[in-house]
Amino acid sequence: MQAGLAMQSIAMLGSQEQKEQWLPRMARVEALGAFALTEPEHGSDSVSLETTARRDGEEWVLDGRKKWIGNGSIADVVVVWARDTGDGQVKGFLVEPPTPGWTAEKMTGKGSLRAVWQAEITLDGVRVPEANRLPGAGSFKDTARVLAGTRNAVAWGALGHATAAYDIAITYAGERTQFGRPLASFQIVQERLVRMLAEVCSMQLYCLRLARLIEQERLTDTIAAIAKMNNTRRAREVLAEARDLLGGNGILLDFHVMRHMADIEALHTYEGTETIQTLIVGRDITGIGAFA
Ligand SMILES: Cc1cc2nc3c(=O)[nH]c(=O)nc-3n(C[C@H](O)[C@H](O)[C@H](O)COP(=O)(O)OP(=O)(O)OC[C@H]3O[C@@H](n4cnc5c(N)ncnc54)[C@H](O)[C@@H]3O)c2cc1C
Repeated sequence: MQAGLAMQSIAMLGSQEQKEQWLPRMARVEALGAFALTEPEHGSDSVSLETTARRDGEEWVLDGRKKWIGNGSIADVVVVWARDTGDGQVKGFLVEPPTPGWTAEKMTGKGSLRAVWQAEITLDGVRVPEANRLPGAGSFKDTARVLAGTRNAVAWGALGHATAAYDIAITYAGERTQFGRPLASFQIVQERLVRMLAEVCSMQLYCLRLARLIEQERLTDTIAAIAKMNNTRRAREVLAEARDLLGGNGILLDFHVMRHMADIEALHTYEGTETIQTLIVGRDITGIGAFA
C-alpha cells in the first residue's frame, strides 16, 4: 500500500508539488498512504467504478463507497479513484482525512494478512481542491499503469512466502525422525523437496526478469500479469506441499506454514485475481478480450 500503490500513484501521476509534499515523508513513513480503487460492487471490474467526482469551481466533490482499502482507516493521504461526472473518465484524487463527509471503518474478521487493516470507506460530499487531483491520471488506463507496476511487488511477495515454505520444510525434514530415519532420507520426501525448490527457482527467474524490465522501463501489463499469476499459484502449491510435509505440525501457527498459507490467499486475490491476470494475458496472446 505505502511504497507500491500509494507512493507509485503519486510518483507516476502526481504534480511536482504533490510529489514534494508527500513522497519524502511517505518514504520515511512519517506519513501513511492508501489506495482506494475497489468498491463493494466493483472488484475485478473496478473499471466500472461508481464513485463520482463532480467539479465545483476550484474544488471537486466526491461521492461513493470503497472497500478493502489497506491503511484506509489510518492513512494521512488516500489516492481515491472516482469517475468525473463531466467527461466520464476515471481520475485520481488525493484525499487527506479527516475531512468532512469522509468515514472509514476498519474491517473485522479477516483471516489473511492480519497485520494490515483494511477499511470500508464512505465518501459523502467530500471536497478536495483541484490542486489535489493527480494531473497524470486522465483515464482508467493510467490507474492500470500503476497496478502493472505494483503486481511486480505481489510476484515478489509470493516468492517470499514460497521460499519460507521451502526453507521450513527442508529444515523440518532434516530434524524429524520417523521409522528410525530423518524424513529427508526418504526418496519420496527428497523428490517433493526438489520439486518445491524447482518451483521456487522458476519464481525467482520471473522476479529477476521483472526487475530487469522495470530498470529498462519495458514492463508491460502482460508480463506483470503472467508473473503475478504464475507466482501466486506456484506459491500456493509449494505451501500446500510444505504443510503436508510437516504433518500435524503443519497446521500449528508456531511452525509458520499455516500463516504463510493464509497470507498467500490475499496476494492471490488482490491487485487482480488469478483469473483476471489470466484474462489480461489471454487478451494479449489471442487479440480477443474474454472479460465479459
Ligand atoms: C487483503 C486484501 C487487501 C486489499 N487491498 C486493497 C487496497 O488497498 N485497495 C483497493 O482498491 N483494493 C484492495 N483489495 C481489493 C482487491 O483488489 C479485490 O478483492 C480484487 O480485485 C477482487 O475483487 P473482489 O474481491 O470483489 O472479487 P470479485 O471481482 O467479486 O471476484 C470473485 C471471483 O470471480 C472471479 N471473476 C470475476 N470476474 C470474472 C470474469 N470475467 N471471468 C471469470 N471469473 C471472474 C474472480 O476471479 C474471483 O474468483 C484488497 C483485497 C484483499 C483481499
